[in-house]
Amino acid sequence: MEEKETIGLTVEELSKFTSSYAHFNKITQKLQKAYKALEEKFENLNLKLEETNIQLRQSLAEKDRISNYLNNILESLNSGVLVIDLNGGITLFNKAAEEILGYKTHQVLGKPYVKIMGKNVKKELTPLHTLKTGISHLNEEKEVETRKGKNIPLGFSTSLLTDSEGNHLGAVEVFFDLTHLKGLEQEITRVKTLAALGEMAATVAHEVRNPLGGIAGFAALLERDLEPDDPRKRLVNKIIEGVEILNRLVINLLNYTKAVKLNPQKLDFVKFLNDTLNFFQMDISSQSENISLRKHFPKEGIECCIDSEQFRQVILNVLRNSVQAMPKGGDIDVYSESIPLKQEDNVILKISDNGEGMDKKTKEKLFTPFFTTKDGGTGLGLSTVKKIVEAHKGSVEIESQPGKGTTITVSFPKRTNDYW
Ligand code: ADP
Ligand code: MG
Repeated sequence: MEEKETIGLTVEELSKFTSSYAHFNKITQKLQKAYKALEEKFENLNLKLEETNIQLRQSLAEKDRISNYLNNILESLNSGVLVIDLNGGITLFNKAAEEILGYKTHQVLGKPYVKIMGKNVKKELTPLHTLKTGISHLNEEKEVETRKGKNIPLGFSTSLLTDSEGNHLGAVEVFFDLTHLKGLEQEITRVKTLAALGEMAATVAHEVRNPLGGIAGFAALLERDLEPDDPRKRLVNKIIEGVEILNRLVINLLNYTKAVKLNPQKLDFVKFLNDTLNFFQMDISSQSENISLRKHFPKEGIECCIDSEQFRQVILNVLRNSVQAMPKGGDIDVYSESIPLKQEDNVILKISDNGEGMDKKTKEKLFTPFFTTKDGGTGLGLSTVKKIVEAHKGSVEIESQPGKGTTITVSFPKRTNDYW
């Protein structure tokens, strides 16, 4: 019997085919399973990757945040901060360092430390020394030249810079400008000396006053007893003149050494200034032809609270000096304005002359009592000015150039809200 043919295949062939199909099917299923497992694995990996990515991004942002934070701290510090690498090249230079030394950060990054801060400075006082020896400096002082060539006193500390494993990365220097502090120190010494001097002067003046009164009295008696044509009268008059000069000196001295007591009242500074200038013009009327006084201040009032009697003294003392500095005449410019300040408005008074000006030496001694360059000068004009202005919580500044002229600027708070 012939085998029945199905779709042209023998039964045997068909059974072979069926079994291989089943086999194929199994493999496909296996493959599909494996594929699925792979897909799942892939998905898992993808998820993990995504997670890691997020973590990475977060940690980068965090790092950025911390670095910005540190940077902001560095930039907001009042102290200069400078870092050098192992070769002595500058790798960090903050804003305060820029302000103190006058360089911009981009001008110094990568430059050798010696060229920027090491000019005329002992090597032992630099972070280069710290780098070499490991020895730190703490709160020491040195003088450093700024970009403009000015020498300024610096307070500084240095230390080694290391990473978490203790490897050396470089050295850091923290520094601050001591100019202001030094100025204050000098001022304190000056004030102390003046106080001692004042005390002594006051005692001497008191002691001199009594015998001086005696001499004046007896000389007057003597003069009265002499006939008008007696040649000795001339000599007695000389004694009387001398005593008068001495007496004036003693009075000035006693006035100067007295502590300033203020009697402040509210007034319009413009009106007060105009009155004082008019008085001054009358006072110098004999010389005033050659002196032109120019006013630069508002017509509107500048309200303030000052002791007018004493402040008049301030203005007159400054104006008299200007007149004396211009023996052949010249211009005196008087400026005044009110400037708003954070805490309280200030009144500015500026008096300029184009007289002989003064050299550096004179400028340094200006406020020292009894310092004068004039024959017959008392040397108390400007020290009195300073004393009165400072009692008003104000300050006095001088600009002057020999042969060009002098500007004195007085500034003081308005104090119109009655607190004194
Ligand atoms: P005095 O006028 O008695 O000398 P001051 O204290 O008023 O004393 O001034 C001190 C010194 O300061 C003066 O001798 C003078 O050398 C200098 N000085 C002050 N004001 C001026 C000015 N406007 N121009 C030039 N030199 C001045
Ligand atoms: Mg004077």
